[in-house]
Amino acid sequence: MGHALVWFRRDLRLADNPALKAALDAGLAPVPVYIHAPDEEAPWAPGAASHAWLHRSLLALDADLRARGSRLIIRQGDSLAEIEKLIAETKAEALHWNRLYEPASIARDTRIKQGLKSRGLHVESHNAALLVEPWTVQTGQGEPYRVFTPFWKNARQRLDATMPAGAPRRLPELPPMLAGLGVEDLRLEPQRPEPRWDAGFWEHWVPGEAGALELLDAFLDGAARGYKEQRNFPDRIATSKLSPHLHFGEISPRTIVARVLAQAWPAAVQPDIDHFLSELGWREFSHHLLFHFPHTAQENMNPRFREFRWARPDARLLAAWQRGRTGVPIVDAGMRELWHTGWMHNRTRMVVASFLTKNLRYHWKHGAQWFWDTLVDADLANNTQGWQWTAGTGADAAPYFRIFNPVAQAEKFDAAGKYVRRWVPELAKLPDAALSAPWEHADLLRRLAPDYPPKPIVDLKASREAALEAYSGPKTKP
Ligand code: FAD
Repeated sequence: MGHALVWFRRDLRLADNPALKAALDAGLAPVPVYIHAPDEEAPWAPGAASHAWLHRSLLALDADLRARGSRLIIRQGDSLAEIEKLIAETKAEALHWNRLYEPASIARDTRIKQGLKSRGLHVESHNAALLVEPWTVQTGQGEPYRVFTPFWKNARQRLDATMPAGAPRRLPELPPMLAGLGVEDLRLEPQRPEPRWDAGFWEHWVPGEAGALELLDAFLDGAARGYKEQRNFPDRIATSKLSPHLHFGEISPRTIVARVLAQAWPAAVQPDIDHFLSELGWREFSHHLLFHFPHTAQENMNPRFREFRWARPDARLLAAWQRGRTGVPIVDAGMRELWHTGWMHNRTRMVVASFLTKNLRYHWKHGAQWFWDTLVDADLANNTQGWQWTAGTGADAAPYFRIFNPVAQAEKFDAAGKYVRRWVPELAKLPDAALSAPWEHADLLRRLAPDYPPKPIVDLKASREAALEAYSGPKTKP
């Protein structure tokens, strides 16, 4: 039996894995390979939280392969050079991989495909990550979409309810001499001594394909009902929490959609289901935007903001935002949830991003970079779109005058203060009425939460007015 290399990247699963399936369908023995080459993704090489997740995800993938008779061959270094070595070692006749859509990955993959094809190897890439690939959806004028609603109207019609292929039951054994590194050799986990900053993550997450499927089952049996409303409340288990699993390809969006569409939902739940699908649609839209406008990972999508006067970041204030010490409880709760769990609720992501880009008026890139390093679901397409949307610089973005009022957001979405009390425990003793704006209750704050900042690092009202003025200046005015 001949061999085919199957190059795993961010498709760390065995079910609905078209690259793996293509090798098997061709009658070749797949050689599952992972090559660690973070520099090839620069300037957005994965951050520390992503690496911590990747460590566990690779272990899970290797265990799943071993359970089927195969194993993961891990190498480190230049991807093309490592692939060439592996071709020589295995006499592989083909190379299969699943596509990525970030600019640096596209450039690398194109180079590798051209190089190997010209030497006669069968090289084939597949779609494992998206419901609709970016070049397959376009406006009536043949342009990429810049507005979500018509994009999703078009893309949604193409959703396929067919259940994708499951994981193969058995896989051919690899040649015994074929060797690689151990996952631990990649030193992906935090290297500093205990207590490790990622310790809290693993109370919340089980990286790997099995963990992803468990979350999907739990979501379909539970939070899917009521999702449309409940997804706004950060203290509730009301969303799927599939984002890191989707980012690492431990589950495919096709599997999620097929499972959702296979279920007979009561009419009253249908709006919840439609809303959930539309959030997967935002993920598709983000990838569509990054593919067609690759400069937007670095630059504003909306050119009107090219000359916008962002404030020069003050290191002390930026650190207060990063560590959840701004004095604004809902902002601090979000930033601490991120630090402790590697994830933040979507509502608070918008609130903290608005605080940074509008109240502090710092360039969205400062926030995007912090998220990049600390989120386990850090994803260039979604992160770029999320930040540019909130900052008002993106495609189909929140208008510049939409400035999230963190006090009103807390009153509306965390009225009983459960989220704030959980993540900012030094405020736990304050009465509910004082939790959203504790600086207005100075005596209580001094007495019951002496360790909490006595007032916000920036005056909310004055900074809001200053932002509105700056955003409506001649350079940015619509
Ligand atoms: P669910 O509500 O269960 O949604 C299901 C899936 O749909 C998610 O797993 C995700 O893949 C996708 N999705 C949901 N909301 C969005 C959205 N607004 N945009 C794009 N896709 C979405 N998401 C990331 O995956 N990675 C990021 O790096 C990221 N950075 C963000 C930065 C900012 C400033 C903002 C405002 C949002 C960001 N998001 C990011 C989007 C969103 O917050 C997360 O996808 C969501 O909170 C993940 O939780 P969930 O899996 O429970 O989502």
